[in-house]
Amino acid sequence: MSGRTDDFEVNGLVIREVKNGESDKIITILIAEYGRITIAGKGISSIRNRHAAAARLFTYSTFQLHKRGDFHYIRDTFYLEGFTQLHYDPEKLALANYICDVAGDISLDGVGDPELMSLTLNTLYAIANMDSVPLEQIKGAFEFRAAAQSGFMPDLTVCDGCGCELTEDCSLDVMNGRLLCRKCRTELENDPAYIRDEYSAKIMIRVSPPVLAALRFIAYAPLKKLLSFSLDKSELPLLAVVCERYLLNHIEHGFTSLEYYKKIKI
Ligand SMILES: [Zn+2]
Repeated sequence: MSGRTDDFEVNGLVIREVKNGESDKIITILIAEYGRITIAGKGISSIRNRHAAAARLFTYSTFQLHKRGDFHYIRDTFYLEGFTQLHYDPEKLALANYICDVAGDISLDGVGDPELMSLTLNTLYAIANMDSVPLEQIKGAFEFRAAAQSGFMPDLTVCDGCGCELTEDCSLDVMNGRLLCRKCRTELENDPAYIRDEYSAKIMIRVSPPVLAALRFIAYAPLKKLLSFSLDKSELPLLAVVCERYLLNHIEHGFTSLEYYKKIKI
């Protein structure tokens, strides 16, 4: 954040809000150029406040801010785009909360990440508007792409052990970011040096050929086309497991919002 004056203007997406007393709110916004920042919003949880709409969760707005000490205060706001319909569907709301939690977790204070910003905005748009795409597909695409963009891009081309083409079920070795064919995985498991404890087992995930094709698409497609792939309904649960575990293994913790989403999803 160095080099910035005390007053500045940014476009940001509200990814978290915490009520503070009667009418105040602490909000966290995601910004392409600066990562995330936290704002002490005086009076903004009152619907009569002129910044209330622009500072609402899942809203993308222009913020004119003033920095004093460790805090940012609102000088003015300008509403740009909102995904307010997310607030009226409990399942979509829960998923959007989880997406924003992940974005907030991956981003750093003061470090810009325009790719994460676009991915998060596109994903919220898809959850809110693209009813033809299953929520599990939107969630999985976000998770895997977010992991790949954060530097955890697995090699999805050939078996890392023998270099063979992967034409049948293979395994994603999560921690090493590579794929192994059945033969190489078996060899590895028969190796006395390979520790087969619960932890190791958890991070080898079965990947079917259609799921592998989907992962390749998610990793390399232009962001705007991220969801332009179709997957047989029977394969969707496997994609969901692979993407979620891959991301969470790299983040190294779970999310309460994810547990909640799983509890209420249809
Ligand atoms: Zn192999």
